[in-house]
Parts: sequence; C-alpha cells; structure tokens
Amino acid sequence: MSIVELDQVASPLAAAPDSRPSLLGLTRQGLADALASIEVPEREIRMRVNQLWHWIYFQGVTDFALMTNVAKGLRARLAERFTLARPEVVAEQISKDGTRKWLIRMPPVDAKDRGAEIECVYIPERHRGTLCVSSQVGCTLTCTFCHTGTQKLVRNLTAQEIVQQLVVARDRIGDFPGMTPPTDGLLPSGEGVRAVSNIVFMGMGEPLYNFDHVRDAIAVLSDGDGLSLSKRRITVSTSGVVPQISALGDEMGTMLAISLHAVRDELRNTLVPLNKKYPLQELLQACRTYPGVSNARRITFEYVMLKDVNDSPADARELVRLLKGIPAKINLIPFNPWPGTQYECSDWDVIERFSEIVFNAGYASPVRTPRGRDILAACGQLKSETEKVRARARLMMEEDEADGEPASH
Ligand code: SAH
Ligand code: SF4
Repeated sequence: MSIVELDQVASPLAAAPDSRPSLLGLTRQGLADALASIEVPEREIRMRVNQLWHWIYFQGVTDFALMTNVAKGLRARLAERFTLARPEVVAEQISKDGTRKWLIRMPPVDAKDRGAEIECVYIPERHRGTLCVSSQVGCTLTCTFCHTGTQKLVRNLTAQEIVQQLVVARDRIGDFPGMTPPTDGLLPSGEGVRAVSNIVFMGMGEPLYNFDHVRDAIAVLSDGDGLSLSKRRITVSTSGVVPQISALGDEMGTMLAISLHAVRDELRNTLVPLNKKYPLQELLQACRTYPGVSNARRITFEYVMLKDVNDSPADARELVRLLKGIPAKINLIPFNPWPGTQYECSDWDVIERFSEIVFNAGYASPVRTPRGRDILAACGQLKSETEKVRARARLMMEEDEADGEPASH
C-alpha cells in the first residue's frame, strides 16, 4: 500500500478561501444563470453555455484564459466573478491493486455548513474503470452491516458536488485531453476506453433520498458534449426506496442496482431496516415494472455474504425463486468487515456453494472481488479515514465541535 497524504488539515494560517464560486459541476441551466448574472446578453447565452461546456467538461480546463474561442473581455469578466476550482483533495490513497481513494473536502454551501468531507473510490479493471461516487454525507438509513450507516447524515450533496467527484478523479488519473496518466500499468486499456468508463452510486448515502440532485448530476455526467458517460454505464444503487424507483427509470434512465441482502422480510428488516417500510414484495414489484428493464438491461441485485446470517443453500434457492421473471444479475459481495462490526464474512466454500446454486438457476453470479481492502475503500467501509482526519483537524485547531450537522433531506 502506498499512501500519499496531501495537506491533511487546514492550517489556521492558511490564506482566506476564494469567495468566487466555482462553475465546475453546474448544469447547463446553472451556467446560463451564471452568465446572465454577469450581464451576458440573452441572445448569446446558449452559444456561450455550449462553449463553456466544452472547455469545462470535455477539455477539463481550470483557467478561463485557455478558452480560446470565448471573447477576451468575457473571459476576464468570468475570471473576476467565478473560478473553475476543484474541491480540495485532502488525502489520496493508492492501493497495491490500483484502487484509489480520495478524501474530498467540499467548500461550505452556506454559513452554517462547515464543508462536507466525502470519499470517492476509483477501481480500475482490464477494460474498464469504475468510479464509486457518494450522494450524501453519511446516510439516514441504518443498515446494520454498513459502516456508513453508523454515521449520521450530515447533508445531501448538491448536483455540483456529485459531478465534481468525477472531475477530481479525471484530474488525478490524467483522464482529460493533454494530461499524462500514471504509468503504473494498472489503468484499463483498449481502443477508446476512458480511465473512468463507469460510474456507480455506491459510495456514501442513499441516492434516492437525494433524488433531484442525483438526477441533475446524471444529466451533466451523461451529456455527450462533455463528460460523456453513457447512461448504460451509470448505475444507481438503492437499498429499496420503492416510491422513487420508477421515477429513477423515467427521469434518469440509468441502470438500477438493488441492495437486497436477504430473501425473507424478517431478516431484511434487521439488515436493511427500510424494509419495514417497503417490504420485499413491493420492492420486487417495483423491479418488475422498472422502466426500460429487459434482458439487455438487467437489474443488479447485490447480496452481501454474512456468515451464518443469510448464506445458507436455502437462502440461495429462495433468492432464485424470488427473482423469477425479473431480468436480473446477481452480485455476491463478500462482506467487508469494519472495526466494531458484529458480522463476519461467509467462508469461501460457503460462498462458492451459494454461487453454484444461483449459477445453476441460469444466473451469472460473479463474486465481486473485494478491491482496495488495504485502504478501507471497499463498499461499506467509506467512513473511517474521514473520521480520522477530522479528529486530527480538531486536535490541531483546538476546537471542540459536535460531529456533523442535523440530518436534512
Ligand atoms: N445506499 C445505497 C448505495 C450505497 S451502499 C445502497 O444501499 O444501495 C453500496 C453497496 O455497498 C450496497 O449494496 C451496500 O449494501 C453495500 N455494502 C455496504 N456495507 C458493506 C460491507 N460492509 N460489505 C460489503 N458490502 C457493503
Ligand atoms: Fe445507507 Fe446504503 Fe449503507 Fe444502507 S447500505 S446504511 S442505505 S449507504
């Protein structure tokens, strides 16, 4: 494991933060509003938005001066009022398998906000690279096997902050035109393959409890003139917010993943307490009618393997029975332990037996290899580093603050 920590804590002597807002991460409408606020004439706005869009999201520039087809005077006005600043990368960790985790500090959104810290993980494979993004700081739900679930919700991320996670990742792995990617041989390769080719909303938070911001962010991420991620390569994972599932399909059109983890309501009520509100039958009905679902666009069902809890052959058979008729993929996830958890990961032979039953029923059932375990970057482990850095920051600044803001969404 190699760990590079950058500027771990804000120094009390640091220069005052730039008060100009960053345009990075804004939607087309957001950019139009920004241009209108500096009195760009109405008739020019559409064209200017297109120009800015290309420079910000396709080229990844950080300086208005580089926008050569934008009039010089306008570039100067933009630079006076705005920046293209990225949020601060407080720490970067690189696992020996090439997984990278960034602790990102977002600037405060208002006077009460102390600046959110979120983690974002990049997982390279041979022919694709997946970025796991967060949608909230913490989570209001309390799934008992999930580390994020032990951290109370600080706040929803804005669409801008969600988009910025991809831009930070592309910056750091040199994935914008003219940049030099790292030469560690761990990035994906192949004709036309971008280092970040896929996005999963499987970091901190429940994306369907931050619906509008996630929807707006996906519009930016998938815009073909900019960041250009195909919606078929964006997966939104939910623990089962049933009333929002069809809207996700209608309004976002992305792939859907369901954190299932149990095949009986009684057990799922414990593992994923949201099940008490939206039980299995309702959840599976929402999957059956998910807009656009087909054999070519299957729903992923995630199933975390917990020793002696949900891993028996009877569970596997019931899983197959429950999913009958739903175009599905099943992802068996070895449980990633975290300090203080009551669960253990199922033994390997038990996972294999489970997987065989699912496979014999006609499902490819890849067991997701845990990635980045050495840097606590695997699913459900996103939390600890944030806490440690926060503790250090507090100590240095001799502040005695309570942890987090009240929940809001
Ligand atoms: N809130 C959303 C998305 C974030 S969680 C959801 O629950 O789907 C992303 C995935 O990681 C979920 O499938 C979740 O169940 C899984 N996960 C959480 N903690 C885990 C752990 N300790 N080990 C393995 N997977 C975990
Ligand atoms: Fe929240 Fe998902 Fe973790 Fe459950 S598994 S606590 S919904 S982040």
